[in-house]
Amino acid sequence: MPTPRRHFIRYLVAGPISAGCPLRAADDGTAAALPAGSRMAGDTFAIGHRKRDGGVFPRPSRWTSCALVIVGGGMSGLAAAYFAGNEDLVLLENEAAPGGHARSDALGGIPCSIGTAYVGRNDAAGKLAAELGLPPRAVAGWDGTVDRGVFTPDIWGGGIDALPYERRVRDQFAACRRDLLRLDPDDARHDDLALADLLAPYGPEVTRWWDAYCPSNWGARADGVAASLGIETVRWWARPDRVDTRATWPGGVGALAEKLAAVVRERHQEGIVTAATVLSVTQSGDGVEVTYFHDGAVVGVRARAAIVAVPKYMARHLLPDLPADQREAMGRITYNPYCVVNVLCARPVRRHAFDTWFPGRRFTDCIAADWVSSARGGDDAGRLLTCYVPLADGEREALLDDDRCRELASAVVADLCAAWPGEKPEPVEVHLYRRGHAIHASAPGLTRHQALARRPLGRIAFAHGDVGSLVASSSGAIRAARRAVDEIAVWR
Ligand SMILES: Cc1cc2nc3c(=O)[nH]c(=O)nc-3n(C[C@H](O)[C@H](O)[C@H](O)COP(=O)(O)OP(=O)(O)OC[C@H]3O[C@@H](n4cnc5c(N)ncnc54)[C@H](O)[C@@H]3O)c2cc1C
Repeated sequence: MPTPRRHFIRYLVAGPISAGCPLRAADDGTAAALPAGSRMAGDTFAIGHRKRDGGVFPRPSRWTSCALVIVGGGMSGLAAAYFAGNEDLVLLENEAAPGGHARSDALGGIPCSIGTAYVGRNDAAGKLAAELGLPPRAVAGWDGTVDRGVFTPDIWGGGIDALPYERRVRDQFAACRRDLLRLDPDDARHDDLALADLLAPYGPEVTRWWDAYCPSNWGARADGVAASLGIETVRWWARPDRVDTRATWPGGVGALAEKLAAVVRERHQEGIVTAATVLSVTQSGDGVEVTYFHDGAVVGVRARAAIVAVPKYMARHLLPDLPADQREAMGRITYNPYCVVNVLCARPVRRHAFDTWFPGRRFTDCIAADWVSSARGGDDAGRLLTCYVPLADGEREALLDDDRCRELASAVVADLCAAWPGEKPEPVEVHLYRRGHAIHASAPGLTRHQALARRPLGRIAFAHGDVGSLVASSSGAIRAARRAVDEIAVWR
């Protein structure tokens, strides 16, 4: 007898999953037979870890040359290659595909993001997309919150009065909104203060809500992120003249990365080299030497200049000649481990927003991946849920263990089913993506370390989102790319 779907869900949630992720149900709903293509997706880290641990690699057996080398093919590296124009360049990317955190997947034929979900229509990413002829579709849907089994739409807009708390707590939410709206978002002192300090007067429920919001967006809980971000967020969300300028594509911001990669490849046939792990970047005479591991061998490329567009926890291991203060500044940028769990359901769930927050759960929020691709612009979305699972530092090691990742995926699915208001989602396929170092923490005082960390070193400039803005974002990554291209213009 085929196991009924309900039974399968219990099995998937509670039982040990014996094969790799994505975890997929068989067509009849039984979970036992996982498809041959099952896999655990995530960063390719083996060579990077060897490098971090002081591993010694042989000298290159072969050298090539070009005008510009770009290290890292995430949004920032791709944007740098695009801004550099018709430069004779090579972009080296560790993974099998470029895009970094901005990549897409599909479950049940529905495209989804494995990380970056949306851009701002008027920010650097939205403008670059328009320039490339790829305008995103408007999200137009303020976030909701699920707590105590109740979905509350638009919490910081009109939702506070509908929160499932006694009046005293709702008043605390309202007081928090009122007080943050009164603060000056341009007052630089708020960059050096922790958001938790501003939230202290409003009670534990308010902090609990922000402790879901902050790690998902800003890489740390409310006690580890700058207060200015809370002020900006409430102003964006609760001002009378507010506008939701968020926009995206089916599959999320991976669409923009793919477009950039296509343009770069059109200009430079061999310009993007994937599965190429950069080992060192050094200045040498009147140029730069970059070595990398590719196809089982160490290869070298000489160029007039280089842009290093990898996160700084990696960059500091690649540049032996970094001045001590700059190496230290790079070390002060911290990143949270993070999983994204895409859950395909048998049918769309109801009662949710584009992005719905779940304070106190194993995942912080979930985005309806089919929001802009669904026929009725969000109303009928909710078949594919992208669950965001920022982790604590101490959980990073668990990501190296496939079994523990499967347990985490199961825990997220269980929590999703338990938390959803009024109905149980019926998951039929689950994909988990893990990242050891995902979002840089938008910590108080971070901007000072960023300024030092991105200081050009002769012919080597530094890009990446971790020095582009206080908050990890596609636009920050693009702005950092633009600046890096300008900084090395004189050498190219
Ligand atoms: C889960 C999640 C959700 C997010 N949601 C949003 C969102 O909705 N909107 C938004 O604007 N931003 C979002 N962000 C942030 C945004 O994704 C990033 O800020 C942006 O994509 C960073 O791009 P990047 O190129 O700077 O870095 P990355 O994406 O980190 O790219 C760096 C690249 O360098 C490569 N690399 C690393 N080491 C080496 C090496 N030694 N050799 C060669 N290559 C190497 C990596 O493989 C990677 O491809 C999100 C981030 C995460 C993790």
